[in-house]
Amino acid sequence: MNGGASEDFGARLSFDRSEPGRRAVDVPRWDGELAAFPDARLLREGVRLPELSQPGLVRYYTALSQRNYGVDSGTYPLGSCTMKYNPKVNEAIAALPGFADAHPLAPAEDVQGTLEVLHGLQRALAAITGMAAVSLAPAAGAQGELAGILMVKRALEQRGELARRRRVLVPDSAHGTNPATAAMAGFEVTQIPSQTDGSMDDDVLARELDDTVAALMVTVPNTLGLWEHGIEDIARQAHEAGALMYGDGANLNAVLGRVRFGDLGFDVVHLNLHKSFSTPHGGGGPGAGPVCCTAELAPYLPAPVVEAREGAFVLARPERSIGQMQQFHGSVGVLLRAYAYIRALGLEGLRAVSENAVLNANYLWRLVREHYDLPYGGPVLHEVVFSGSRQRREHSVRTYDIAKRLIDYGFHPPTVYFPLIVDEALMIEPTETESRESVEALAAALVAIAEEAEAHPELLHEAPVTAPLGRLDETAAARRPVLRWQPAEA
Ligand SMILES: *Cc1c(COP(=O)(O)O)cnc(C)c1O
Repeated sequence: MNGGASEDFGARLSFDRSEPGRRAVDVPRWDGELAAFPDARLLREGVRLPELSQPGLVRYYTALSQRNYGVDSGTYPLGSCTMKYNPKVNEAIAALPGFADAHPLAPAEDVQGTLEVLHGLQRALAAITGMAAVSLAPAAGAQGELAGILMVKRALEQRGELARRRRVLVPDSAHGTNPATAAMAGFEVTQIPSQTDGSMDDDVLARELDDTVAALMVTVPNTLGLWEHGIEDIARQAHEAGALMYGDGANLNAVLGRVRFGDLGFDVVHLNLHKSFSTPHGGGGPGAGPVCCTAELAPYLPAPVVEAREGAFVLARPERSIGQMQQFHGSVGVLLRAYAYIRALGLEGLRAVSENAVLNANYLWRLVREHYDLPYGGPVLHEVVFSGSRQRREHSVRTYDIAKRLIDYGFHPPTVYFPLIVDEALMIEPTETESRESVEALAAALVAIAEEAEAHPELLHEAPVTAPLGRLDETAAARRPVLRWQPAEA
């Protein structure tokens, strides 16, 4: 890359760029008396810091920062992850000193403002989901799931049914964390297959729903980006069989302001505030996975919840709480951003979110659909899951190659090989914050790549060619990363 004569400041590590005697800052000479160190034996010979000039240092870090791809630099269509644009006003609000400087152990009377916001957020999420009660404590979607399923467990225990109800039914179109959560909570997982329209198979469900079932755990909309047909009926059947309904609401941007989990018959749901309610989460966190539930399950919510008592806000522990999921009050910075986002948008704005999320995904589908297979059909909701099976069959090009080639076209690759029920899956979520032009540009790149797969498959096998590094051993990078610089062998 960078074929010309220009110096590439990001290509070598600062240590390898080091030149003896160069300094980025001038430290004034000390003319006073020298004091001895308390114990000279603790001193090292040298600290091996890279020696760079100030412009060298600034250019080095600027070059590295420019190699980051984020939602602030371009479209980031990572399906299921909802990498949408995060309004900057949320950052300003979360950074206000009254919020940011509050100590987590401060007494409630000193942080009434923060608690009032958290209380307001609990109420807003209850209204958005149509559920009676909310705890903001879980720090991620998966932790919200675990909280919800542990609440189900406690409720069944209270009913005296836990010994018998050992199974959780999970459709094969669910997010991978769902079966993992049910297993972690000590339940057995029974998978419900999908039928050709992408909804769960009614016959299998009817057969499996008996008095050994604790809960049905459904991702709505599912990971195919499709609505679960007849979900109200399914909820009714589950309740008749004495099971509880768990909803994974991480994909809420598909239905915000239009459909409420409570109205569909769910007993407990979690949301992903870092996705649907705009917190930057590309680096893996922090997140917030509030859990929302019916009045029956409210006593089991994880602690703390914020309550208004006699004109003041207090942190309370619900009567039969499953306990505390983590220290303190959850990820307050994420909660503040979510509150700001909801208040800025209002109901009309939230409805526009789902309208645009669905419009963008369907527009992309229409622009691209001649070129890739779509096993479960459209129209879709917030995301569209294509299959690269045609490209593999006819041109020996795999989804992995297509994803890598997108980097050369200037896009972050989509989610690949998930959901597992789609062969060679390309799971694309443009999100509601992409403009018409960006959706068209992404579609044009996908079409161009499909054409390259026909004419020049080798281009795709070699991609990416514009990135600083091409194909990595991704397993080794994840499992055995080399994180420390070592001097080259002399
Ligand atoms: C992202 C996601 C999760 C997991 O959320 P984390 O915050 O990553 O733990 C669960 N379910 C669905 C549908 C998701 O998209």
